Amino acid sequence: MNLVDLRSDTVTQPTPAMRAAMLAAPLGDDVYGDDPSVNGLQEALAAALGFEAGLFMPTGTQSNLCALLSHCQRGDEYLVGQFAHTYRWEGGGAAVLGSIQPQPLNHQADGSLLLADIEANIKPDDAHFARTRLLALENTTGGKVLPLAYLSAASELARKHGLARHLDGARLFNAAVAQAEHSGGDAMQAARRIAGHFDSVSVCFSKGLGAPVGSVLCGSRDFIQRAHRWRKMAGGGMRQAGILAAAAHYALEHQVERLADDHALAMQLAQGLQGLEGLTVEMPQTNIVFVDIDADLVGDRARGLLAHLKSRGVLVTGLYRLRFVTHLDVDANGIDRAIAAMREYFSIQD
Ligand SMILES: *Cc1c(COP(=O)(O)O)cnc(C)c1O
Repeated sequence: MNLVDLRSDTVTQPTPAMRAAMLAAPLGDDVYGDDPSVNGLQEALAAALGFEAGLFMPTGTQSNLCALLSHCQRGDEYLVGQFAHTYRWEGGGAAVLGSIQPQPLNHQADGSLLLADIEANIKPDDAHFARTRLLALENTTGGKVLPLAYLSAASELARKHGLARHLDGARLFNAAVAQAEHSGGDAMQAARRIAGHFDSVSVCFSKGLGAPVGSVLCGSRDFIQRAHRWRKMAGGGMRQAGILAAAAHYALEHQVERLADDHALAMQLAQGLQGLEGLTVEMPQTNIVFVDIDADLVGDRARGLLAHLKSRGVLVTGLYRLRFVTHLDVDANGIDRAIAAMREYFSIQD
Protein backbone atom coordinates (compact mmCIF):
# COMPACT_ATOMS: atom_id res chain seq x y z
CA MET A 1 0.00 0.00 0.00
CA ASN A 2 1.48 3.37 -0.93
CA LEU A 3 1.44 5.82 1.93
CA VAL A 4 -0.40 9.09 2.05
CA ASP A 5 2.21 11.08 3.93
CA LEU A 6 0.63 14.19 5.42
CA ARG A 7 3.22 14.69 8.16
CA SER A 8 4.92 17.54 6.35
CA ASP A 9 5.58 19.09 2.95
CA THR A 10 9.25 18.26 3.54
CA VAL A 11 8.66 14.62 2.51
CA THR A 12 8.39 15.36 -1.21
CA GLN A 13 10.62 13.47 -3.64
CA PRO A 14 12.32 15.32 -6.49
CA THR A 15 10.38 14.82 -9.72
CA PRO A 16 12.08 13.28 -12.78
CA ALA A 17 12.38 16.75 -14.37
CA MET A 18 13.96 18.12 -11.19
CA ARG A 19 16.41 15.22 -11.10
CA ALA A 20 17.28 15.91 -14.73
CA ALA A 21 17.99 19.56 -13.86
CA MET A 22 20.26 18.39 -11.02
CA LEU A 23 22.14 16.02 -13.33
CA ALA A 24 22.67 18.72 -15.91
CA ALA A 25 23.78 21.42 -13.44
CA PRO A 26 27.19 23.01 -14.04
CA LEU A 27 29.17 22.78 -10.79
CA GLY A 28 32.08 24.45 -9.03
CA ASP A 29 33.38 24.87 -5.50
CA ASP A 30 30.96 27.21 -3.79
CA VAL A 31 33.36 27.97 -0.91
CA TYR A 32 35.44 29.70 -3.63
CA GLY A 33 32.23 31.26 -4.97
CA ASP A 34 32.76 29.22 -8.13
CA ASP A 35 29.54 27.28 -8.45
CA PRO A 36 27.49 28.76 -11.29
CA SER A 37 24.34 26.89 -10.24
CA VAL A 38 24.51 28.21 -6.68
CA ASN A 39 25.26 31.71 -7.91
CA GLY A 40 22.41 31.51 -10.39
CA LEU A 41 19.89 30.49 -7.76
CA GLN A 42 21.03 33.15 -5.28
CA GLU A 43 20.82 35.87 -7.92
CA ALA A 44 17.46 34.67 -9.22
CA LEU A 45 15.73 34.62 -5.84
CA ALA A 46 17.28 37.91 -4.68
CA ALA A 47 16.18 39.59 -7.92
CA ALA A 48 12.69 38.08 -7.73
CA LEU A 49 12.20 39.31 -4.15
CA GLY A 50 13.87 42.69 -4.64
CA PHE A 51 17.06 42.16 -2.63
CA GLU A 52 20.68 42.87 -3.50
CA ALA A 53 21.98 39.41 -2.66
CA GLY A 54 21.12 35.87 -1.67
CA LEU A 55 22.95 33.03 0.09
CA PHE A 56 22.26 29.32 -0.38
CA MET A 57 21.92 27.45 2.90
CA PRO A 58 21.65 23.73 3.68
CA THR A 59 18.61 24.23 5.92
CA GLY A 60 16.08 26.83 6.93
CA THR A 61 17.27 26.56 10.51
CA GLN A 62 20.80 27.53 9.54
CA SER A 63 19.45 30.30 7.33
CA ASN A 64 17.41 31.81 10.17
CA LEU A 65 20.29 31.37 12.60
CA CYS A 66 22.74 33.16 10.31
CA ALA A 67 20.16 35.91 9.78
CA LEU A 68 19.73 36.43 13.52
CA LEU A 69 23.50 36.37 14.06
CA SER A 70 23.95 38.93 11.28
CA HIS A 71 21.30 41.30 12.62
CA CYS A 72 22.09 41.00 16.32
CA GLN A 73 25.13 41.14 18.57
CA ARG A 74 25.72 39.37 21.87
CA GLY A 75 23.35 40.92 24.43
CA ASP A 76 20.82 41.99 21.81
CA GLU A 77 17.25 40.80 21.75
CA TYR A 78 14.73 39.85 19.07
CA LEU A 79 10.94 40.03 19.31
CA VAL A 80 9.38 36.85 18.01
CA GLY A 81 6.18 34.81 18.15
CA GLN A 82 5.74 32.26 20.92
CA PHE A 83 5.26 29.53 18.30
CA ALA A 84 7.62 30.92 15.68
CA HIS A 85 10.15 28.52 14.21
CA THR A 86 12.97 30.96 14.99
CA TYR A 87 12.06 30.76 18.67
CA ARG A 88 10.43 27.42 19.45
CA TRP A 89 11.69 25.00 16.83
CA GLU A 90 15.36 25.77 16.35
CA GLY A 91 16.80 24.39 19.56
CA GLY A 92 17.34 27.84 21.02
CA GLY A 93 20.18 28.32 18.52
CA ALA A 94 20.17 32.12 18.58
CA ALA A 95 20.55 32.10 22.37
CA VAL A 96 22.99 29.18 22.51
CA LEU A 97 25.25 30.16 19.65
CA GLY A 98 24.67 33.91 19.42
CA SER A 99 23.94 35.01 23.00
CA ILE A 100 20.88 36.69 21.51
CA GLN A 101 17.91 36.80 23.84
CA PRO A 102 14.48 36.01 22.44
CA GLN A 103 11.48 38.00 23.66
CA PRO A 104 8.58 35.73 22.72
CA LEU A 105 5.12 37.29 22.24
CA ASN A 106 1.77 35.53 22.08
CA HIS A 107 0.13 35.14 18.70
CA GLN A 108 -3.28 36.49 17.81
CA ALA A 109 -5.81 34.10 16.28
CA ASP A 110 -4.70 35.15 12.79
CA GLY A 111 -1.07 34.30 13.59
CA SER A 112 0.05 37.91 13.92
CA LEU A 113 1.74 39.58 16.89
CA LEU A 114 -0.25 42.48 18.30
CA LEU A 115 1.40 45.79 17.41
CA ALA A 116 0.78 47.01 20.96
CA ASP A 117 2.62 43.93 22.30
CA ILE A 118 5.53 44.57 19.97
CA GLU A 119 5.74 48.19 21.03
CA ALA A 120 5.36 47.44 24.75
CA ASN A 121 8.24 44.95 24.57
CA ILE A 122 10.78 47.21 22.91
CA LYS A 123 13.08 47.94 25.84
CA PRO A 124 14.30 51.42 26.70
CA ASP A 125 17.99 52.14 26.26
CA ASP A 126 18.94 51.29 29.84
CA ALA A 127 21.65 49.10 31.32
CA HIS A 128 19.02 46.82 32.87
CA PHE A 129 17.80 45.60 29.51
CA ALA A 130 18.98 43.66 26.53
CA ARG A 131 19.10 45.88 23.44
CA THR A 132 15.98 45.23 21.39
CA ARG A 133 17.35 44.97 17.91
CA LEU A 134 15.12 42.89 15.64
CA LEU A 135 11.54 41.94 14.88
CA ALA A 136 11.29 38.41 13.47
CA LEU A 137 8.03 37.44 11.79
CA GLU A 138 6.99 34.27 9.99
CA ASN A 139 4.80 33.97 6.87
CA THR A 140 2.98 31.71 6.48
CA THR A 141 2.77 31.07 10.20
CA GLY A 142 0.95 27.92 11.20
CA GLY A 143 -0.31 27.85 7.61
CA LYS A 144 -1.83 31.32 7.96
CA VAL A 145 -1.09 34.24 5.68
CA LEU A 146 -0.23 37.50 7.44
CA PRO A 147 -2.22 40.32 5.78
CA LEU A 148 -0.16 42.83 3.79
CA ALA A 149 -1.62 45.73 5.76
CA TYR A 150 -0.37 44.06 8.93
CA LEU A 151 3.11 43.50 7.50
CA SER A 152 3.22 47.12 6.49
CA ALA A 153 2.16 48.37 9.94
CA ALA A 154 4.48 46.00 11.85
CA SER A 155 7.37 46.87 9.59
CA GLU A 156 6.75 50.61 10.00
CA LEU A 157 6.54 50.24 13.77
CA ALA A 158 9.84 48.33 13.85
CA ARG A 159 11.51 50.90 11.62
CA LYS A 160 10.26 53.75 13.79
CA HIS A 161 12.02 52.15 16.76
CA GLY A 162 15.21 51.40 14.85
CA LEU A 163 14.66 47.62 14.72
CA ALA A 164 15.71 45.45 11.82
CA ARG A 165 13.04 43.15 10.34
CA HIS A 166 13.57 39.52 9.43
CA LEU A 167 11.00 37.27 7.79
CA ASP A 168 11.14 33.52 8.21
CA GLY A 169 9.55 32.88 4.85
CA ALA A 170 10.02 29.12 4.88
CA ARG A 171 6.61 29.05 3.19
CA LEU A 172 6.73 32.55 1.68
CA PHE A 173 5.49 31.23 -1.66
CA ASN A 174 2.49 29.54 -0.07
CA ALA A 175 1.54 32.97 1.31
CA ALA A 176 2.22 34.60 -2.06
CA VAL A 177 0.20 32.06 -4.04
CA ALA A 178 -2.74 32.39 -1.62
CA GLN A 179 -2.64 36.19 -1.87
CA ALA A 180 -2.29 36.11 -5.63
CA GLU A 181 -5.31 33.84 -5.83
CA HIS A 182 -7.41 36.36 -3.90
CA SER A 183 -6.21 39.44 -5.73
CA GLY A 184 -5.92 37.76 -9.12
CA GLY A 185 -2.25 38.75 -9.38
CA ASP A 186 0.98 36.97 -10.07
CA ALA A 187 2.59 34.87 -7.32
CA MET A 188 6.09 36.28 -7.89
CA GLN A 189 4.81 39.83 -7.55
CA ALA A 190 2.92 38.86 -4.43
CA ALA A 191 6.09 37.34 -2.95
CA ARG A 192 7.99 40.51 -3.76
CA ARG A 193 5.33 42.64 -2.10
CA ILE A 194 5.60 40.59 1.10
CA ALA A 195 9.41 40.63 1.05
CA GLY A 196 9.44 44.40 0.55
CA HIS A 197 8.49 44.89 4.19
CA PHE A 198 11.67 43.19 5.47
CA ASP A 199 15.43 43.68 5.62
CA SER A 200 16.01 39.95 5.22
CA VAL A 201 13.94 36.96 4.15
CA SER A 202 14.68 33.24 4.39
CA VAL A 203 12.90 30.93 1.94
CA CYS A 204 12.82 27.11 2.13
CA PHE A 205 12.99 25.09 -1.05
CA SER A 206 12.65 21.75 0.73
CA LYS A 207 9.02 22.31 1.74
CA GLY A 208 6.13 22.66 -0.68
CA LEU A 209 8.45 23.80 -3.46
CA GLY A 210 9.61 20.19 -3.61
CA ALA A 211 13.42 20.37 -3.66
CA PRO A 212 15.30 17.78 -1.61
CA VAL A 213 17.40 20.27 0.37
CA GLY A 214 18.06 23.95 0.71
CA SER A 215 17.04 27.45 1.70
CA VAL A 216 18.11 30.87 0.49
CA LEU A 217 18.62 33.89 2.73
CA CYS A 218 18.18 37.26 1.01
CA GLY A 219 19.15 40.75 2.10
CA SER A 220 21.47 43.65 1.36
CA ARG A 221 24.97 42.90 0.03
CA ASP A 222 26.47 43.96 3.34
CA PHE A 223 24.08 41.78 5.36
CA ILE A 224 24.72 38.74 3.16
CA GLN A 225 28.46 39.24 3.53
CA ARG A 226 28.06 38.98 7.30
CA ALA A 227 25.75 35.97 6.95
CA HIS A 228 28.31 34.32 4.68
CA ARG A 229 30.89 34.42 7.48
CA TRP A 230 28.40 32.96 9.96
CA ARG A 231 27.39 30.24 7.49
CA LYS A 232 31.02 29.17 7.19
CA MET A 233 31.36 29.14 10.97
CA ALA A 234 28.15 27.09 11.30
CA GLY A 235 29.60 24.50 8.93
CA GLY A 236 27.36 25.43 6.02
CA GLY A 237 30.08 26.14 3.46
CA MET A 238 29.32 23.45 0.89
CA ARG A 239 31.38 22.57 -2.16
CA GLN A 240 29.67 21.38 -5.39
CA ALA A 241 26.38 22.51 -3.90
CA GLY A 242 25.07 23.43 -7.34
CA ILE A 243 23.64 19.95 -7.67
CA LEU A 244 21.26 20.95 -4.85
CA ALA A 245 20.82 24.56 -5.92
CA ALA A 246 19.77 23.32 -9.36
CA ALA A 247 16.84 21.49 -7.76
CA ALA A 248 15.83 24.63 -5.90
CA HIS A 249 16.17 26.74 -9.05
CA TYR A 250 14.00 24.26 -10.94
CA ALA A 251 11.41 24.54 -8.15
CA LEU A 252 11.49 28.34 -8.33
CA GLU A 253 10.82 28.25 -12.05
CA HIS A 254 8.33 25.38 -12.25
CA GLN A 255 6.76 24.58 -8.90
CA VAL A 256 5.58 27.86 -7.42
CA GLU A 257 2.20 28.28 -9.09
CA ARG A 258 1.28 24.67 -8.42
CA LEU A 259 1.23 25.36 -4.67
CA ALA A 260 -2.37 26.38 -5.39
CA ASP A 261 -3.10 22.66 -5.92
CA ASP A 262 -1.83 21.90 -2.43
CA HIS A 263 -4.05 24.62 -1.02
CA ALA A 264 -7.08 23.18 -2.83
CA LEU A 265 -6.32 19.70 -1.45
CA ALA A 266 -6.04 21.10 2.07
CA MET A 267 -9.46 22.68 1.66
CA GLN A 268 -10.85 19.38 0.33
CA LEU A 269 -9.51 17.64 3.43
CA ALA A 270 -10.87 20.24 5.86
CA GLN A 271 -14.29 20.03 4.24
CA GLY A 272 -14.23 16.24 4.36
CA LEU A 273 -13.53 16.30 8.09
CA GLN A 274 -16.52 18.48 8.91
CA GLY A 275 -19.16 17.14 11.25
CA LEU A 276 -17.03 14.63 13.18
CA GLU A 277 -17.94 14.80 16.84
CA GLY A 278 -15.09 15.81 19.11
CA LEU A 279 -13.03 17.43 16.36
CA THR A 280 -12.58 21.10 15.55
CA VAL A 281 -11.17 21.63 12.10
CA GLU A 282 -9.51 24.94 11.30
CA MET A 283 -10.27 26.04 7.75
CA PRO A 284 -6.92 26.25 5.92
CA GLN A 285 -5.61 29.33 4.14
CA THR A 286 -2.75 27.41 2.53
CA ASN A 287 -1.49 23.81 2.72
CA ILE A 288 -1.81 22.99 6.43
CA VAL A 289 -4.92 21.75 8.18
CA PHE A 290 -4.93 21.82 11.98
CA VAL A 291 -7.43 19.68 13.82
CA ASP A 292 -8.08 20.01 17.55
CA ILE A 293 -9.36 17.03 19.46
CA ASP A 294 -11.77 17.90 22.28
CA ALA A 295 -10.18 17.82 25.70
CA ASP A 296 -12.26 14.83 26.87
CA LEU A 297 -10.97 12.76 23.94
CA VAL A 298 -7.32 13.62 24.40
CA GLY A 299 -5.14 10.81 25.68
CA ASP A 300 -5.50 7.19 24.63
CA ARG A 301 -8.11 7.95 22.05
CA ALA A 302 -6.01 10.59 20.36
CA ARG A 303 -3.00 8.27 20.40
CA GLY A 304 -5.20 5.53 18.99
CA LEU A 305 -6.16 7.82 16.14
CA LEU A 306 -2.61 8.25 14.85
CA ALA A 307 -2.08 4.47 14.98
CA HIS A 308 -5.39 3.86 13.21
CA LEU A 309 -4.52 6.33 10.46
CA LYS A 310 -1.15 4.64 10.04
CA SER A 311 -2.85 1.25 9.71
CA ARG A 312 -4.82 2.76 6.81
CA GLY A 313 -1.65 4.08 5.20
CA VAL A 314 -2.12 7.69 6.30
CA LEU A 315 0.71 9.41 8.16
CA VAL A 316 -0.04 12.46 10.29
CA THR A 317 1.75 14.17 13.19
CA GLY A 318 0.39 15.97 16.20
CA LEU A 319 2.76 17.49 18.73
CA TYR A 320 0.37 20.21 19.91
CA ARG A 321 -2.58 19.62 17.54
CA LEU A 322 -3.19 17.16 14.71
CA ARG A 323 -1.53 18.53 11.59
CA PHE A 324 -2.16 17.48 8.00
CA VAL A 325 0.10 19.01 5.36
CA THR A 326 -0.54 18.71 1.63
CA HIS A 327 2.22 18.77 -0.99
CA LEU A 328 3.14 17.68 -4.49
CA ASP A 329 3.27 13.97 -3.64
CA VAL A 330 -0.35 13.90 -2.44
CA ASP A 331 -3.36 13.79 -4.75
CA ALA A 332 -7.13 13.92 -4.39
CA ASN A 333 -7.33 10.13 -3.94
CA GLY A 334 -4.89 10.32 -1.07
CA ILE A 335 -6.96 13.03 0.56
CA ASP A 336 -10.09 10.90 0.14
CA ARG A 337 -8.26 8.04 1.84
CA ALA A 338 -7.32 10.30 4.75
CA ILE A 339 -10.90 11.53 5.09
CA ALA A 340 -12.26 7.96 4.98
CA ALA A 341 -9.78 6.76 7.61
CA MET A 342 -10.72 9.65 9.91
CA ARG A 343 -14.45 9.08 9.45
CA GLU A 344 -14.02 5.35 10.00
CA TYR A 345 -12.26 5.91 13.32
CA PHE A 346 -14.85 8.31 14.65
CA SER A 347 -17.86 6.27 13.53
CA ILE A 348 -16.44 3.10 15.08
CA GLN A 349 -15.83 4.84 18.38
CA ASP A 350 -19.11 6.74 18.65
C1 LIG B 1 10.70 24.12 8.10
C2 LIG B 1 10.78 25.48 8.61
C3 LIG B 1 12.01 26.12 8.80
C4 LIG B 1 13.34 25.49 8.50
O1 LIG B 1 13.43 24.16 8.75
P1 LIG B 1 14.64 23.22 8.28
O2 LIG B 1 14.08 21.89 8.56
O3 LIG B 1 15.80 23.58 9.11
O4 LIG B 1 14.89 23.47 6.84
C5 LIG B 1 11.99 27.40 9.28
N1 LIG B 1 10.84 28.04 9.53
C6 LIG B 1 9.65 27.48 9.34
C7 LIG B 1 8.41 28.26 9.60
C8 LIG B 1 9.57 26.18 8.87
O5 LIG B 1 8.38 25.62 8.68
